[in-house]
Amino acid sequence: MTTKLRGLDFRKSVDHMVDKAIRIIGLDAGIAKAIKSCNNVLTVRFPVEIKGKVEVFTGWRAVHSAHRLPSKGGIRFSIHSDQNEVEALAALMSYKCAIVDVPYGGSKGALKIDPRKYDRDEMRRITRRFARELATKGFLSPAVNVPAPDMGTGQREMAWIADTYKHLYPEDINYLACVTGKPVHSGGVRGRVEATGRGVQYALREFFRHPDCVKEAGMEGSLEGKRVVVQGFGNVGYNAAHLLHSQDGVKITAVIEYNGALSCESGIDPVKLYAYIQETGGVTGYPDAEFHKDAHKLLELDCDILIPAAIESVVTEENAPNIKAKLIAEAANGPVTFEADRVLHERGIVILPDAYMNAGGVAVSYFEWVRNLSHMRFGRMERRHDEVRGHCIVKAMEEITGKSAPDWVLTEIAKGPDELDLVNSGLDDTMRSSFQQIRAVKDEVDAVDDYRTAAYYIAIEKIAKSYLDIGIY
Ligand code: NAD
Repeated sequence: MTTKLRGLDFRKSVDHMVDKAIRIIGLDAGIAKAIKSCNNVLTVRFPVEIKGKVEVFTGWRAVHSAHRLPSKGGIRFSIHSDQNEVEALAALMSYKCAIVDVPYGGSKGALKIDPRKYDRDEMRRITRRFARELATKGFLSPAVNVPAPDMGTGQREMAWIADTYKHLYPEDINYLACVTGKPVHSGGVRGRVEATGRGVQYALREFFRHPDCVKEAGMEGSLEGKRVVVQGFGNVGYNAAHLLHSQDGVKITAVIEYNGALSCESGIDPVKLYAYIQETGGVTGYPDAEFHKDAHKLLELDCDILIPAAIESVVTEENAPNIKAKLIAEAANGPVTFEADRVLHERGIVILPDAYMNAGGVAVSYFEWVRNLSHMRFGRMERRHDEVRGHCIVKAMEEITGKSAPDWVLTEIAKGPDELDLVNSGLDDTMRSSFQQIRAVKDEVDAVDDYRTAAYYIAIEKIAKSYLDIGIY
């Protein structure tokens, strides 16, 4: 499939999925069209001198919605990106923010580039030039449009973007809030790097708190011992695998990468594998698992939970009939196509949709943005105060009972929360309450029979309400 077709299919796929929710709500066709349309897309082409030769790069920033500002969404560096892909991802951002109650419009950006081909200094110059294009054309600012990391970008690129904006607009006291996902020493918030993967973990924990949901997916019990296949071992895939393995006792039975896959029935150690990939650049030759050259085929491996955490359109109508997972947790954006979604639904395979599953990233980006606007680390004012109060409660208990409290009580009660505690608590609350809302719609609205439609139902209702409240002129 060509890149162009892939992006177009992805955009249509998102639209078709949203249409189902729109039909159930019975939304006015004009409002529906207004919600689904991408407001505007900026295309930039700019030259950068690389090793003595001029190269021209192409990038996009799409604003799908601006009913809430700023519009928010990651920037992807990928050679496969195109405008359709960026528009589809921007639309997903609008719905995602609405589902998890993050007060933003939806946006997304991409630069068509293979980052592996350039050294650090070249990437720095290319990223800064891209950021300059976005800022000077009104597509980067704390009030209007705030990017974040996505595939191929991370803290490093976000720090360069913030610094470029600062040099362009030094009088903007809120300059740090022009981008999220920055390193902590450059205004980032603790917990953002692993936020999307941790959000996947919290979402799965919430799912497994409801025995009826677990039963519907053909499983029982807790996450402990569940066999999990992960596709994409980058930021999202690695962190989800690591946290679920180390804190919930799941078994990572396969890891699928773009250049090969690994399987091991007794489980793969995510930390060990991640270190190996960092050292060698891939999964080939990893000693503690079986290597498979036909990586894509491993999506069909028998397992309890499949976590696609790489790219879009990996489960299509071709391989959907062969998928053996009981539950698909969409950590990537758009991994299951519209047609595949239908096949999987008919086969009774439960899907937790991307617009909810990977929303932990934008939730914690929201916390970072608020932190940047308040110019203060979370917990700075109340941490010691809460600690003193905790000590008083423990002391009072000891005096009343005449017994001394065990050490764990002192550690748990008499401890003021630090920034990471607060961020994780906010993330947990976001993922739990959003799942409960989605589940309620799935159970209570007659025509809604899957989590994706339920999530879009919530998103469309909220966005339509805000369009109607503001009024369209
Ligand atoms: P990343 O670049 O850190 O990691 C992606 C991983 O997938 C890499 O290890 C890459 O080698 C692998 N990969 C690429 N193509 C593949 C293929 N065809 N088959 C198997 N593996 C492949 O990216 P990321 O930030 O982890 O993003 C992954 C997905 O999660 C994307 O869909 C992205 O839009 C989505 N997402 C990311 C965030 C975030 O905070 N980073 C937030 C929300 C959604």
